[in-house]
Amino acid sequence: MIVVMKSGSPEPEIARICTELQSWGLTPEKIVGKHKVVLGLVGDTIDLDPLQIRECSPWIEQVLRVEQPFKRASREYRHGEASDIVVPTLNGDVHFSEHHPIVITAGPCSVENEDMIVETARRVKAAGAHFLRGGAYKPRTSPYAFQGHGDSALDLLATARAATGLGIITEVMDTADLERISEVADVVQVGARNMQNFSLLKKVGAQDKPVLLKRGMAATIEDWLMAAEYILAAGNPNVILCERGIRTFDRQYTRNTLDLSVVPVLRTLTHLPIMIDPSHGTGWANFVPSMAMASIAAGTDALMIEVHPNPSKALSDGPQSLTPDRFDQLMKELAPLGKMLDRWATPVPALV
Ligand code: PEP
Ligand code: MN
Repeated sequence: MIVVMKSGSPEPEIARICTELQSWGLTPEKIVGKHKVVLGLVGDTIDLDPLQIRECSPWIEQVLRVEQPFKRASREYRHGEASDIVVPTLNGDVHFSEHHPIVITAGPCSVENEDMIVETARRVKAAGAHFLRGGAYKPRTSPYAFQGHGDSALDLLATARAATGLGIITEVMDTADLERISEVADVVQVGARNMQNFSLLKKVGAQDKPVLLKRGMAATIEDWLMAAEYILAAGNPNVILCERGIRTFDRQYTRNTLDLSVVPVLRTLTHLPIMIDPSHGTGWANFVPSMAMASIAAGTDALMIEVHPNPSKALSDGPQSLTPDRFDQLMKELAPLGKMLDRWATPVPALV
């Protein structure tokens, strides 16, 4: 249920209403929007009469039930207003939001060594990326495949940040690693395979770093939003949803089926920002540019592109990785479309 306050409602009155709602056994969550304050009420509201709440104060404009099973993640919960997730980086604040320029995240599937991660960071930064994305802990189908360098790769990501000022995104697979990962990461990634690892979702929800939640490969949109709800319910309001392709019957020519229809669908269902990952979505480098273009045309708020200095030698996901040159060219191809939609920021100058 949400309580929509009239514009200009006095703060002491809002505080008084919150106290009154608490005395009814509810936990109001205050959401300050651009124009209005909304109080979110999650919990046992089934027997509550919206009229009874309205009578609490003449400053209450409306009391509405959230019909969706995902409450905090629903668009109604913020009375239709999009979230603006602000991530501070050494190069300045980056906003993940439908009202801001598209955020570009790029980097190798796995952090392999210092030279490759620093070189990749410099190249994607020069091309206009805002975040370096690279894996220290890798979820691999085979236990015999490269599993990531773990803790030492986190140090290399920190080195790449110091060299470029880029924000860092890296994946957490195990709750035991979370504390250490969130010391380095500006955004913590939960991968497709862990989208319904509920104990991990509760843990990332209980820490402060924004969470990039990738869609499970066989997850419905509702499963995905319910997974986001776990993180929001645990107290972390900063969740970015990342579409990375789903399993369909055809795996002959593409690794996954990139579901770009999530962009307009999620827009109606949720206030959370949307990222598209055409690298895992297609599995092949030569399909990535057109799907990146299509993602922007569909209205995505962010992109994730895998880039490796030497894809044929990559320890993971080489076939879908762009070379730095191809990434640079792609950014030039995307710019006119991004500018036409008024969603393109000029690259920030390099720190070093
Ligand atoms: C990745 O981002 O490198 C990754 C393993 O992605 P996903 O969880 O989408 O498979
Ligand atoms: Mn990968």
